Amino acid sequence: MDYFPLYFDLRGQPCLLVGGGEIAYRKAELLLRAGAELKVVAPVISSRLRSLLVSHTHEIIERAFEPHDLENVILVVSATDVREVNEQVSIAAKARQLPVNVVDSPDLCSFIFPAVIDRSPVIAAVSTGGRSPVLTRWLRELLESLIGDGYAVLGRFLGERRNDMKQTWPDVQERRRITEAFMQSPGFGLAMQGDYQAAEKYLGQHPDDLMQGEVYVVGAGPGDPDLLTLKALQLMQRADVVLYDSLVSDAVLDRVRRDARREYVGKRGGDTSTSQTSINDLLVQYARQGERVLRLKGGDPFVFGRGGEEIETLVDEGIPFQVVPGITAATGCAAYAGIPLTHRDYSQSVRFVTGHPKDGEVRLEWQEFAHANQTIVFYMGLGGLERITCNLIEHGRAPQTPVAIIAKGTLPEQQIVVGNLEDIVSKVRAKQLARPTLIIVGEVVSLYDRLSRQST
Ligand code: SAH
Repeated sequence: MDYFPLYFDLRGQPCLLVGGGEIAYRKAELLLRAGAELKVVAPVISSRLRSLLVSHTHEIIERAFEPHDLENVILVVSATDVREVNEQVSIAAKARQLPVNVVDSPDLCSFIFPAVIDRSPVIAAVSTGGRSPVLTRWLRELLESLIGDGYAVLGRFLGERRNDMKQTWPDVQERRRITEAFMQSPGFGLAMQGDYQAAEKYLGQHPDDLMQGEVYVVGAGPGDPDLLTLKALQLMQRADVVLYDSLVSDAVLDRVRRDARREYVGKRGGDTSTSQTSINDLLVQYARQGERVLRLKGGDPFVFGRGGEEIETLVDEGIPFQVVPGITAATGCAAYAGIPLTHRDYSQSVRFVTGHPKDGEVRLEWQEFAHANQTIVFYMGLGGLERITCNLIEHGRAPQTPVAIIAKGTLPEQQIVVGNLEDIVSKVRAKQLARPTLIIVGEVVSLYDRLSRQST
């Protein structure tokens, strides 16, 4: 191990910072976050740095460093851009056995600063031993996404209960088993969301009694796995079993925990489909068996996703669940195609409409779609494209109104066909479009040529 990582309690502790510029400012910010009392020494100290030091507990000394500045401090940081000064500080500090850091000069340091992910009381630190700031930052971002804010809330919850737990379960082994069981239970998610009262019920129960599963209804977005939310990823890593739709891309499914069981429950026009009732039943059955069930749905679960029906069953059956929104096809496809859904010059509103016929007929308020200055996005509409365009024209929408059809939006295979209400049907016929496809109708589509970043 090149360095030994330690967490210093700096609250109320006097620390010396030599330097008065930008680098010193950044170090001061960090040290102040940890509650240090700063003595800042430099011939010139920037007003920005001064503004951090308004409290009377800090000292500002505007002159060159002198060795006696090291008196009564417990930690030293030298952040000047003059090598000789940095050397002088380092030698003097080391002579007094004081821990010293010199910015960007590992040879002069007895300790280095890691990159910090602060979810106090949870704090993660990462370092490459000064070898690569870019790699350090990369790793920090990775950890930032893994250790969300919820861990701070969870950490506080567990911290507040630690003493009680110690009294109730004096045996360390047993206490650990009980806490680990809690971490596997729905209480974990509840504590993360700050619902301490509900989480409490799961803390301290016998692990065998905690065999209650839960359901995560998660929006998988339109296809590109980078469009998943951090929360979706976290729950995808916790799941024991995943029930997924045909809309969930392989790339997204790849991000689910490797050893989670995968079950396809997709419906696609014509396919033998798993009925909604049997999906609802499966969710309940698996959760009852104590499993963490991930219900992964394309786009957003509450936009033409029947997420509402699924959680209704869960509510009725008293099964704990969480719903995580996803990027819906309309916003995902629009962004990747370069078609803003609203625009001050072209469209003041946008509607998401289903083009899927119920009982063989699409009953929509067509006359409401007739006004220009609005964007209409049809989900599940390709099969009825001709009917949609005819209806729009019949009810008064201008035949020249631009239309875009986006197939497999946000995926590498994304295809776009652009036309207008009169010619889009024949243009689409000429192409073999893969599913799923989305239809965008409105003047905003005319911006496509200028704003698209992908060729089709
Ligand atoms: N809950 C989903 C929509 C489900 S309905 C969401 O919020 O996006 C299914 C319809 O969504 C498809 O018929 C298609 O119109 C649209 N869709 C979903 N993903 C798509 C994609 N990647 N590209 C184009 N259309 C998509």
